[in-house]
Amino acid sequence: MLTIQTNYSLKQLNTFNIDVKAKYYAAPTSEDEILEILNDESLVGVPRFILGGGSNVLFTGDFDGIVIHPQIKGIEKIDEDENHIWLCAGAGVVWDIFVSYCVKNNWGGVENLSFIPGNVGAAPVQNIGAYGVEAKSTIDEVYGIYLENGEPFCLNNAECEFGYRDSVFKEELKGKAIITEVTFKLNKKPVYITHYGNVEEELTKNYSKVNVQNIRKAIITIRERKLPDPGKLPNAGSFFKNPIVPVEFAENLKQKYENMPLFASDKKHAKLAAGWLIEQCGWKGKRIANVGVHEHQALVLINYGGAEASELTKLAADIQQSVKEKFYVEVESEVNYV
Ligand SMILES: Cc1cc2nc3c(=O)[nH]c(=O)nc-3n(C[C@H](O)[C@H](O)[C@H](O)COP(=O)(O)OP(=O)(O)OC[C@H]3O[C@@H](n4cnc5c(N)ncnc54)[C@H](O)[C@@H]3O)c2cc1C
Repeated sequence: MLTIQTNYSLKQLNTFNIDVKAKYYAAPTSEDEILEILNDESLVGVPRFILGGGSNVLFTGDFDGIVIHPQIKGIEKIDEDENHIWLCAGAGVVWDIFVSYCVKNNWGGVENLSFIPGNVGAAPVQNIGAYGVEAKSTIDEVYGIYLENGEPFCLNNAECEFGYRDSVFKEELKGKAIITEVTFKLNKKPVYITHYGNVEEELTKNYSKVNVQNIRKAIITIRERKLPDPGKLPNAGSFFKNPIVPVEFAENLKQKYENMPLFASDKKHAKLAAGWLIEQCGWKGKRIANVGVHEHQALVLINYGGAEASELTKLAADIQQSVKEKFYVEVESEVNYV
């Protein structure tokens, strides 16, 4: 039976460890339980927020509405052919458990996305990406329910309008849809992507064979070395997106800053490294009272303990301002403010 709790602490449910409360909280384990919440007359007109693993959110205060925390579990094989396998995973499945299940079975496509915190339901929202791979390359369909009328939906890959850390769920459907299940198309004959970051180097150094299992292990090793563990130093991973700018603008900047990293985006645009820009503005390792910028990764903001969300929003705004002043570039937040 679904229970709706009141005055519920969200401190353990967000990786920034911000100490806020939700007026109402429910953790539905099925679509029927989601509909029960949506049809509850006492909750008509009450603001709703869908929470996954809380690893990409910054709660800026108590939430005066209902936090819906889907706990739909299960990974099911729904189809296969000679080359592919289709799996359906519940929104409440922990993302890395899903990845580890695929890797164990030698199904390729998500191994480079190993060790990203959060749940399956959030993976399509910002089209999670790491080490040269994005979730969009394996997501087949996304199932869910529209919050306004309780109607079900199924969006295919194209309809999800995936972009860099972006999708329809962050745009037109922002705050309007709850994802219940995602189907993935995995490769029975994996294609290895190892050119990105230090993956190749890590594989050569420590593994005799390239396969999905070793790619996963190598990526976990690299991530553990580079990124702070939110359990020890509360954070939400990269706080900022890498800015996409017109090629001409990027080339002018490159002339001025020769060692500035620059990546191709599309024919007309280039991607700058937000971490590098922030580091050049002197923020890396800087601490201000309870918050700061990680000493090894300028993209990561940290709550050193007891921080108010306003300390993090102020730090983020100051960083954005200084990058704008020095480079005339806007760095957008990747983290969702609630
Ligand atoms: C240490 C660390 C490393 C990270 N590394 C990466 C990385 O390499 N690449 C990357 O892309 N991200 C990374 N992230 C960010 C984060 O892990 C991902 O964005 C992840 O997908 C968020 O999942 P979540 O379940 O925690 O979502 P939440 O933070 O709970 O929610 C994120 C957004 O998705 C929405 N949402 C969540 N579930 C649903 C649902 N079922 N239906 C509809 N909307 C929903 C929320 O409303 C919110 O807007 C990292 C974070 C941390 C802390």
